[in-house]
Amino acid sequence: MKLVFLGTSAAQPTIERGMTCICLVLDKEILMFDAGEGAQIAYQKSKLGWNKPMRIFVTHLHGDHCVGILGLLQTMSLQNRTESVDIFGPPGIDEFLASNLKILNFGLTFPVRITRIKEGLVLDDPTYTIHVCEAEHSIPAYSYLFAEKERPGKFYPEKAKELGIPEGKLWHELQSGNEVKVDNKTFKPSDVMGEKRKGRKMGISGDTRPTKKLEEFFKGCDYITFDSTYSDTLRDKAKENYHSTSVEAAELAKRAEVENLILTHFSARYDDAEELVKEAKQVHVSVIAAKDLMEIDIK
Ligand SMILES: [Zn+2]
Ligand SMILES: [Zn+2]
Repeated sequence: MKLVFLGTSAAQPTIERGMTCICLVLDKEILMFDAGEGAQIAYQKSKLGWNKPMRIFVTHLHGDHCVGILGLLQTMSLQNRTESVDIFGPPGIDEFLASNLKILNFGLTFPVRITRIKEGLVLDDPTYTIHVCEAEHSIPAYSYLFAEKERPGKFYPEKAKELGIPEGKLWHELQSGNEVKVDNKTFKPSDVMGEKRKGRKMGISGDTRPTKKLEEFFKGCDYITFDSTYSDTLRDKAKENYHSTSVEAAELAKRAEVENLILTHFSARYDDAEELVKEAKQVHVSVIAAKDLMEIDIK
């Protein structure tokens, strides 16, 4: 599992940073959070693949977070995509996509399914859940929480070989949590596998003020990416524009006992986000600034 940042700028692009777009790459699919203008260009550079199963989650309907879906869908079609794309977003997302697809006369080569979100559970996949929480922004906006379900323990093939369990179907049975019999001897999954592993938790704030509600929502996350539009010297401006400063993001992460904080959505006034990281590190020990095309392995 890895996080890939495709765009880390707020409101307008800079030479170094594109518009907001974050991908959580799982073995079986890509979960994309927001797609600002030009998302398909960054996506192409990331080499994540045009036909991989994908779900797109939109935090709010500001152009820098959703306009890129159109170009992305069109490029996917030109790449002859056949896999469907599921898009989740606030009320209005369906209208936005339907009218654009109609006016631009898109001929999509694959099905697109749209789901309007509201607070609570929006997706229950066999291996993870996605929850949504209201954020505090200048228009209705939402934050997302990806929570992996408990993972099976690590499989040790050498142990299975030692016990004389033949490779193939029986290994698969054990990996699926079932007992198997070999020469009248019964083997349990725990004979060849380690302890079950806790699922990983990852939060995406979108554009927001730091609120008590989000602090609860992100409680105990392994990673969160958080609105860090401004340096703390512009706290008033952050309040006025319904964004957060790097220090406010760090304060929330600390109170929520989040392991690692990734700052993103930087105002174009900052050429270098290091100043913002420095401030946030006074509050939280693990802080980094997202950069375009940066990849982070989520262990
Ligand atoms: Zn924004
Ligand atoms: Zn916004």
